[in-house]
Amino acid sequence: MQPIKHVVIVGGGTAGWLVAAGVGKMYHGRVNITLVESDAIRTVGVGEATIPTMIAFHKLLDIPEPEVMSAADATFKLGIKFRNWGHIGEEYVHAFGQVGRIFWGGEFQHFWKRGRNLGMDIPFGDFCLENVAARAGRFAVTDNPVLNYAFHIDAGLYAQYMRKFAEGLGVVRHEGTVEHVDLHPESGEIASVRLARGEVISGDLFIDCSGFRAILSEGALKTGYENWQEWLPCDSALAVQVEKAGPTVPYTQATAYGSGWIWEIPLQNRVGAGLVFSSKFADRDWADMTLRQHLKTPMIDEPRLLQFKTGRRKLAWNKNCIAIGLASGFLEPLESTSIHMITSAVIRLLRLFPLNGIQPILVDEYNRQTREEAESIRDFIALHYHATRRNDTPFWDYVRTMSVPDTLRHRFEMFRESGMVFLVGEELFRHNGWTQVLLGQGFEPKLYQPVVDNMSDSELLEYLKGFQEHVAKNTSMLPTHDEFLARYCVSKKTEAAMV
Ligand SMILES: Cc1cc2nc3c(=O)[nH]c(=O)nc-3n(C[C@H](O)[C@H](O)[C@H](O)COP(=O)(O)OP(=O)(O)OC[C@H]3O[C@@H](n4cnc5c(N)ncnc54)[C@H](O)[C@@H]3O)c2cc1C
Repeated sequence: MQPIKHVVIVGGGTAGWLVAAGVGKMYHGRVNITLVESDAIRTVGVGEATIPTMIAFHKLLDIPEPEVMSAADATFKLGIKFRNWGHIGEEYVHAFGQVGRIFWGGEFQHFWKRGRNLGMDIPFGDFCLENVAARAGRFAVTDNPVLNYAFHIDAGLYAQYMRKFAEGLGVVRHEGTVEHVDLHPESGEIASVRLARGEVISGDLFIDCSGFRAILSEGALKTGYENWQEWLPCDSALAVQVEKAGPTVPYTQATAYGSGWIWEIPLQNRVGAGLVFSSKFADRDWADMTLRQHLKTPMIDEPRLLQFKTGRRKLAWNKNCIAIGLASGFLEPLESTSIHMITSAVIRLLRLFPLNGIQPILVDEYNRQTREEAESIRDFIALHYHATRRNDTPFWDYVRTMSVPDTLRHRFEMFRESGMVFLVGEELFRHNGWTQVLLGQGFEPKLYQPVVDNMSDSELLEYLKGFQEHVAKNTSMLPTHDEFLARYCVSKKTEAAMV
């Protein structure tokens, strides 16, 4: 077994610099870290909505939240507002918080369902502080009430911040385009990468963060790809930046159209937007026209076409190479999970770090965890498409009637029949996520858990009404999102514009 002394990261997008920051923080001084990135090959440049796990990652790195937010022109995110997903004209918010209270005998949706049967008309989302605060445009980081939140970031500025952070920990950046990858003739492991200018960079462990190109794990090692387009058929996106107008909403927007959907991600100084679609059902002209008709403010740049294949690299860790970020696969951006999957891969790598040498057991465990994570996120994203009543276009007909993975079909049927959601292992999306999306898209269960009948009708209705009032009162105590941004993390871009 060969001890790991030199880690080589190929790629300087969000993935490359987050890996460099994480490995630098933990193994600074014990391993040398080189990051190779090419000025000639641009980063994907999107990836601006995150989920709450990002907060924990910044804490692990000891990064002050206001500092990184102000550097990345960031805003807060309490969830995603979905429009036209269950049916045209309907909308709901999938918020990050707890809906109602957790009760050991049955989750909150059972109480809500019985209330509905008794004629109560309070929407499910009204029992979640983050959901109500999102819709009211209110936000604060406080001890009381505590909000579960994430960020919207400018991907380019965020990578720059992480680069500075990682370089401060001794990570050496090497500009150049990798043109050739040398393999050991016997082991087939990667020995070195050769750059266009002729330099050769050798290492013991290689991290492939080269984006969709996956130049190490696929180009050199031919690892193979598991294609999930059958369940996640979107394969293209037109991305654009637009001017901002009006108050900054503390949520991402996902508005469905005939053959895809449009994202809108508000930053402090602009909005990131784009249309995700399936090239089997629509072409670029349709996407361009739909995007332009939807956007209400002028474009800052021209829409840029990105193409992808949903799925995952068969082995995230193959020989002495670990693929992280888009090089390891892509599940489409609907629930903003890609950056989360990067940070969770970094944490997994740090915990299984092969400092004394690469042991097959570590590799297998890394790959097992990565596969389980990706499959459970895949199911949750596919749910949004499948749990629709839309039948207005061939695209919605396809996703509504497609055969889904057994794991998703089981969960879907369980909920429809009984209102119950059971999780398996360490799934990222928990009860709150599944119930908000299922109910939000109009899938009410036939039954509720009978333990709820332990309360009388009047006790239940009083409890539900009281809970809704409590959430509304807590929301009214919060400042507006813009007021809070102004006192917590004014963007460096705003400050520069004021000078
Ligand atoms: C349409 C779309 C929307 C998305 N929205 C979200 C979102 O809202 N939230 C979210 O979490 N994620 C989102 N993602 C995913 C997110 O963009 C990525 O996970 C994230 O940006 C990380 O990308 P990356 O670093 O893996 O790849 P890239 O940004 O593509 O970086 C690749 C790097 O590799 C380098 N490189 C490539 N080839 C070579 C070579 N031969 N030699 C040297 N260097 C090389 C490039 O120079 C670059 O530095 C979205 C993705 C798409 C496509």
